[in-house]
Amino acid sequence: MGRLGNTENVKNRQQRTPSYHILDIEIDHGIDSCNSNVCDVSERDIPLYKYHEIPDFLQGNPYVIKGYRVSLPFSLCLKSLFLWNNETINIWSHLIGFMIFGFLMVYANLILLPASVSSITDHVIVTLGLLCYQFCMLCSAGFHMFACHSERASKRWLAVDLTGISIGVIGCYLPAVHYAFYCLSVWRDLYFIIIVVLTVMTIVVQLHPRFFSHGWFKYRIFIYMFLVGYGVIPTIHWISLNGGFSSAIVQLFVPKVATMYIFGMVALVFYVTKFPERVLPGSFDFIGSSHQWWHVIVVAAFLYWYFAGQEIQTYRQHHPCHV
Ligand SMILES: [Zn+2]
Repeated sequence: MGRLGNTENVKNRQQRTPSYHILDIEIDHGIDSCNSNVCDVSERDIPLYKYHEIPDFLQGNPYVIKGYRVSLPFSLCLKSLFLWNNETINIWSHLIGFMIFGFLMVYANLILLPASVSSITDHVIVTLGLLCYQFCMLCSAGFHMFACHSERASKRWLAVDLTGISIGVIGCYLPAVHYAFYCLSVWRDLYFIIIVVLTVMTIVVQLHPRFFSHGWFKYRIFIYMFLVGYGVIPTIHWISLNGGFSSAIVQLFVPKVATMYIFGMVALVFYVTKFPERVLPGSFDFIGSSHQWWHVIVVAAFLYWYFAGQEIQTYRQHHPCHV
C-alpha cells in the first residue's frame, strides 16, 4: 500500500510551487517533483501519506487520516488509478458513472428513442442531458485523480470539477424544463435562458482569486445550493399552470421532483458534515467516507432523473399539446 515519506520534503516541495492563475491550463509544469525522487518510484510503490504530513492545499478533511498521494507527476497520477488510496472510490465512482451515462446515451439514441417514434428534438434533449452528466463525471474523476499533482494543478482541477457540477445541474434542468413546459414554449425558452445565465454567472464567480480558498467553502456551497434550489420556482409555476395538485401530471411528477431534492439534501448533508468519518476518524479513510457517499448519491440522483425524464417524455408522446 505504499510507504510513508519524509514530511518536510513533501511540504517543502509544495512551497516552491509558483502562484496559480485560473487561465493557466498547463498540466505538468510548475512542479519539481522529479527532483525529489517521486518520478523514480514505480506505480506499485507510490508513497501514501498521513494527514499531518500533507501540504495545506490537500488538507480539508482531518477525519480522513491516511492514504494520501502527494506531488505525483501526471503519469503516476494516472497509474494511481489502480493503487488503493483514499481517492480510489471517489475516482472510480464517477468514472463508472461516466461509462453508465455514455452507455445510456448510445442505448437511448440507437434503440429506445427510435422504438418510441421520437422526434429529432427528443434525441437532442436526451443526448445533451446525458452529455452534461458525462462531463460532470469526467471533471470530477479528473479532479480526484490529478489534484495531488501540485497546488496549481489542484486549483485548476477544482475549477474544472466545480464547472462540471454546474454543467451537471444544467443536465438536470434541460429535459425537465423542456418536457414540463413542452406546450408553453415562451416559458420554456425563458427558463432555459435564466438557467444558462445563472450557470454562466456561477462559472464566472470562479474567476474571483479567493473563490477556491478554504475560507470561501461556505460561499461555494451557497452558490451551488442557489443554482439547484432555483428549480423550485419553475416547479411551482409549472404546478399552477397545470391546475394545481389535483392534476394527473402534477401528481405523477411532483413526487419525482421532491425525490430529486431529497437526494440533493442527503448528498449535501454528507458533504458538509463529513459524516461518518467525523464520528470515527481514520475508520473510513479508504472506503465509506462522506465524499464517497456524496459521489455515489450524485450518480444515483442523475440516474433517477434520467429515468424520470423518460417517463415525462413518454407522457408527452401520449398527451400531445392542445392547439
Ligand atoms: Zn468529489
